[in-house]
Amino acid sequence: MKYLLVIGDGMADEPVTQLDGRTPLEAAQIPTIDRLSRQGILGSTVNCPPPLPAGSETAILSIFGYDPRTYFTGRSPLEAAAAGIALRPGDCAFRMNLVSLEDSDVPFAQRRILSHSAGSIGAEDAFEAVETLERDPDFSALLRRADMTIHRFPAFRQIPVQHGADLQGLVTIPPHDHLGEVIGPLLPSGCAEGELLKELMEAAFRALDHSALNARRRSEGKLPANGVWFWAQGTAIALPSFAEKYGRRGAVISAVPLCQGIAALGGMEVSLVDGATGEIDTNYEGKRDRALELLHRSDLDFVCLHLEAPDECTHNGDLPGKIQSVEWLDSRILAPMMRVLDEERMPVRILLLSDHKTLTSTRGHAGGPVPFLLYDSTAPRGSGLPYTETNGLKGPFVENGADLMRMLFGPEAKKR
Ligand SMILES: [Zn+2]
Repeated sequence: MKYLLVIGDGMADEPVTQLDGRTPLEAAQIPTIDRLSRQGILGSTVNCPPPLPAGSETAILSIFGYDPRTYFTGRSPLEAAAAGIALRPGDCAFRMNLVSLEDSDVPFAQRRILSHSAGSIGAEDAFEAVETLERDPDFSALLRRADMTIHRFPAFRQIPVQHGADLQGLVTIPPHDHLGEVIGPLLPSGCAEGELLKELMEAAFRALDHSALNARRRSEGKLPANGVWFWAQGTAIALPSFAEKYGRRGAVISAVPLCQGIAALGGMEVSLVDGATGEIDTNYEGKRDRALELLHRSDLDFVCLHLEAPDECTHNGDLPGKIQSVEWLDSRILAPMMRVLDEERMPVRILLLSDHKTLTSTRGHAGGPVPFLLYDSTAPRGSGLPYTETNGLKGPFVENGADLMRMLFGPEAKKR
């Protein structure tokens, strides 16, 4: 038996007025996902246990069987692990997003945040933004004072690591949950570390707003990368081995550092695909072919394919993009993949789900139950229902998403 986990990040949603009260999943044409759902078990799961943040950082830990109430210290240590950054004792990792603040005459703290990703900034511009910051005398002096090093990434996600930070009382806020809001009340707070991060953010704005990079981006009609946003701090964590926990050897295909980091910390293989961007323009065929290749490898039992695009489209306020990316998950990844697996009669169990909800109405994440489907090619069950949020609530309810892996692997989870 082979095991496939498919995560459509942030696919689940609530009824949307623009869709006449349907959810994007209900509006999308997803015949293959619906077939798996009809022939499988369809239920609901809670992957983000309150009061932990509702987001992939807790949800994907749960899905891989690592209860976030035990293992979550913050999002960034997971991302740092993906990048091979070894945190030393006393180190703290942050996420520093490149963001877009509104162009206006008001002071820094009265501006609104328009994009958590500087308009899905590409690799070259992201590198140029970080170089601009490091060349800036004020910003670089603050970095030295903080004993902080920025690890660069080819996207809006940057990972600063600070040595000897005191995080006690520090409050930071995920920018993607507050798009369109005035930033003053959202800036880091709660302790001296918060003041330092705020100073860094102000210095970054002064360095970036009128930079050559942003003159070019504005002239090209793009959102400026004129701010940075610190959040998701945490200290080093260790995860138990996935192979020892479940007796299954796994590999993970994902464009996002968070998912790669959980895989790496759990001792799974991280499989990188060229052109996998974490956005709607990702390499669907490349991810599909890689998943098939890994499923055929005799030294692997378990493959995870993670698709970030639905979540990013929702944060970007792109409802047609959200629906399109879910339809492409179906037509460009799962439909051709199932044709191959069916033809070969490969015994396979598939767990497919949205990790958390991302709401079209707020462009932010939400906790609560999300639908999952569990399909077994050797024992079709027959929920008879297409994959939607409402239908998920009619089936089994999994209170703790960290139990899902045991359901996927079944009663013989430890045996092989
Ligand atoms: Zn998200």
